[in-house]
Amino acid sequence: MTGTTLALVEIDNHNEVFAALGQASLEIFLDEFAERVSRFARDGDELIKVQPNKYCVLLNGLTESVQIELAGAKLARLFEAPITIVDEEFKASVHTAFVPPVAKQNGNNRRRLQIAESALIEARTHNRPYVIRDQSSDLACVDVRRPREIELAFERGEFVMYYQPLVHAGYRSITGAEALMRWHHPEGVRAPGEFIPYLERSAILNSLTWFTLKSSMAQAADWPNAPSISVNLSPLLILDPDLIPNVSDALSLFDFPADRLVIEITEDAMIENPERTKNVLQELRSLGIQIALDDFGIGYSSLASFRELPVDKLKIDRSFVSNLLTHPRDKNIVKAIIDLAHAVEMKVVAEGVEDEPTASLLQEMGADLLQGYYFGKPMQAADLEKLLT
Ligand code: C2E
Ligand code: CA
Ligand code: CA
Repeated sequence: MTGTTLALVEIDNHNEVFAALGQASLEIFLDEFAERVSRFARDGDELIKVQPNKYCVLLNGLTESVQIELAGAKLARLFEAPITIVDEEFKASVHTAFVPPVAKQNGNNRRRLQIAESALIEARTHNRPYVIRDQSSDLACVDVRRPREIELAFERGEFVMYYQPLVHAGYRSITGAEALMRWHHPEGVRAPGEFIPYLERSAILNSLTWFTLKSSMAQAADWPNAPSISVNLSPLLILDPDLIPNVSDALSLFDFPADRLVIEITEDAMIENPERTKNVLQELRSLGIQIALDDFGIGYSSLASFRELPVDKLKIDRSFVSNLLTHPRDKNIVKAIIDLAHAVEMKVVAEGVEDEPTASLLQEMGADLLQGYYFGKPMQAADLEKLLT
C-alpha cells in the first residue's frame, strides 16, 4: 500500500534537565533529541518540528502494522543510550504515536495530528514507548465514536459534576474544590480521560465545559464556608469571544462571588495563541476571578516563561508529586517550582497527593494547597457538602 504513516515523537523529561543543570544544558538535551529523531527519519520521509520537544515524521511508504512495529522498535533503540551532559547521564523519556493512513488515503494531516496528540496522552498515561492509533478505529471506546452519542447522553443528563477537595497545606482544612466531570454511562461511571481527549476541538466539549461552569456555580453557591471552585477550561474556549460575557452572566445569575471562582487552564492554551490568551486571562482576573495553570511542569515553555503569565496559582503536575519521596530529581524540581512561584507571588497547589509522608514533605517545602486521593477522591456534591459542615 502506498501512503505515509504519521509519527508524532515527544520527549517529556526535558524539564528534569533544566531543573538539574539549567537552560544551556536543556538546549543540548533537546538538540540531541532532534538529532536522534532525524536519524530515525529515512530519505524521503518528511520531518517537521512541532515544538522543541516534539517532532512529526511522515514515514513514506510505511503503512503495514508490522512495519510500524519495527519503526517503533527502531526508535526505542535510538533512545536506549542515555544523553550525556557535563558528565551526567539522562535517560530520555520518549513517547511516540503512529497514525497510519486509511485505505491508501493519508487523509487530512491536521486531523491525523489531532489523533496523534490524543494517542500521545494515552502513551504517556500508560507509559508505553509507542501507540498505534488507526484512524478508522481511533476512538477506542465505541460510544464516543459518534459525537451524537455524547450529545444524547448530555441531553439525558448523564454528565454529572464531581468535586475533589483542596486543602490548606498547614491546617489541612478544605478551602476549595475542583469540579471534575463524570459520565454516568449505563454501563458504569466514566472518567474524563475516557472521552475528553476524543472531543478536543469539538463543539460538544464547549457545551460540556459550559455545563461544568454553570452547574458547579449553581451547586456550590450555598455551600458552607464558601470554598473556592476550580473549573477546567478547554484551551479552545479561551478564544471564544463569548467567554467573558458568558462567565460574568453566570456569576451574576448564581450570585457567585468572582473571587470564589478559579479557572484552570493548561499551557496548550498559551502555545496556540499566547497574546490573545494573556489578554483574556487578564480580563478574567479584572473581574476578580483567579487563574490557575494546570499540569505545570510537563509542558515545554513552563519554567522559562511562566513569570510573565497573568496567573495566580500553579498546579504542580501529579507526575512530579507521586515520585517525590523516591526520585530526588523530582523533589528538586518541585522545590524549584515552589520557590520560583513564590518569588513572583503565585500560590502553589500540589496535585496527586496520595499519602501523609508526601503531604508533610510538600508542606515543609512550602506548597500552599494540597489535592489528592489522600484528602479525598472526586465525589458528588452532597458528599463534599457534608465534609464542609
Ligand atoms: P486535571 O485537571 O489534571 O484533574 C486532576 C485529575 O487527577 C483528576 O482526574 C483527578 O481525579 C485525578 N487525581 C486527583 N488526585 C489524584 C491522586 O491522588 N492520584 C491519582 N492517581 N489521581 C488523582 P479526572 O477526574 O479523571 O480528570 C482528568 C482530566 O480531565 C482533568 O485533569 C481535566 O483536564 C479534564 N477535565 C475534567 N473535568 C473537566 C471539565 O469539566 N471540563 C474540561 N474541559 N476538562 C475536564
Ligand atoms: Ca485541573
Ligand atoms: Ca492537573
